[in-house]
Amino acid sequence: MKEPIATIKNTRRIQEEHGVHTKKSFGQNFIIEPKVVEKIANAAIRSKDDLVIEVGPGIGALTQYLCEKADHVIAFEIDERLPEILYKEIGDEHLEIILQDFLEADIDKVIRERRKSGQRVDFVSNLPYYITTPILFKLFEAQEHPDTITVMLQKEVGERFLAKNSSKSYNNLSVVTQYRCDVKKIMDVSRHVFMPKPNVDSMVIQFTFNDKYHVQDEPLFFDMVRACFVQRRKTIYNNLQAWLADKELAAEMLDRAGIGASDRAQQLRVEDFIRLYEVNYEKIRERKS
Ligand code: SAM
Repeated sequence: MKEPIATIKNTRRIQEEHGVHTKKSFGQNFIIEPKVVEKIANAAIRSKDDLVIEVGPGIGALTQYLCEKADHVIAFEIDERLPEILYKEIGDEHLEIILQDFLEADIDKVIRERRKSGQRVDFVSNLPYYITTPILFKLFEAQEHPDTITVMLQKEVGERFLAKNSSKSYNNLSVVTQYRCDVKKIMDVSRHVFMPKPNVDSMVIQFTFNDKYHVQDEPLFFDMVRACFVQRRKTIYNNLQAWLADKELAAEMLDRAGIGASDRAQQLRVEDFIRLYEVNYEKIRERKS
C-alpha cells in the first residue's frame, strides 16, 4: 500500500492539492490515525472475497484499507468533489464509487445486483453523525441486509445500542436493534484522531444479524416497543394504556404476559417485550387495525 491517507500531513496535502475543505453540513470529520482505520478494516472484513459497502469514504482514509483487504468495495458518497480524488489516490481496481445520498439509494437492488452467490456482505462506515440512526435503520430494515455492520458513531449513541435492560442508556432503539442483531463494541476512539476535531468522543461498534427472534408483523411490534418507552418515568402500564387507548386491555395484557403493572419499560429484556406482544397479538391487532 502507498502511504496511509489517514495522517495529518496527507489529509492537508490532498485538501490543498484539490482545493477541497471539509463541509460541516455533510458531517465531514476525517480520520488522521492509520492505526484506527486499520483496526476498523480488520474488524469489518472477514475475507478478500467479501463484498464491502462503505458510506461516506471522504478522501479515502478508511477506504484505502478496505480496498487492501477486499476485492470489491462499493462506496456511497454524497459530496461530488470527492470521487475524482478517491480514484486518483486509491485507483479503481477494487473501488466502485456511487455518487449518491445513501438515504436515497436502493440498497436492496445494489446488493442483489453485485453479490455473488453465497458472498458475505460487510457494511462499514465512519458515519456522518447527523444521519446515524436513519442509516442504521435503513440497513436493519433492508431485505438484502449485510451480514455485519461495523460503524464509528458518537460514543453516547453507541452506548444506547449496547445497553442492557435496567441501565441508563437502554431505550426502544436498544430493544429493536438487539431483536435483530448481536451488538459488540470494537473500540473507543478519541476525538483527537479526527480533522476537524469534533466535540465528542466516538466508538466503533459491530452489529451481526442473527435469526434469533421472529414475531408476527414486525412493524406493529416495533410500534408497541416505541410506545412503551414514550414516557420513561411512567410505568409500562401507563404507556401501554395510552397506546391502546384502553386501560382494561393494557392491564389484562400485562397480566397475561406475567409482567408487573408497576414495572418500567427499561426493566424489560427483549424476550419480555416479545412475550408481551406474542401472547397478546390477536388482541393488539384487533385494537390497532
Ligand atoms: N470515511 C472518511 C473518514 O473516515 O475519514 C470520512 C468520514 S466523514 C465522518 C462522513 C462522510 O460521509 C463524508 O465524506 C460525507 O461527505 C459523507 N456523507 C455525508 N452524508 C452522506 C449521505 N447522505 N450519503 C453518502 N455519504 C454521505
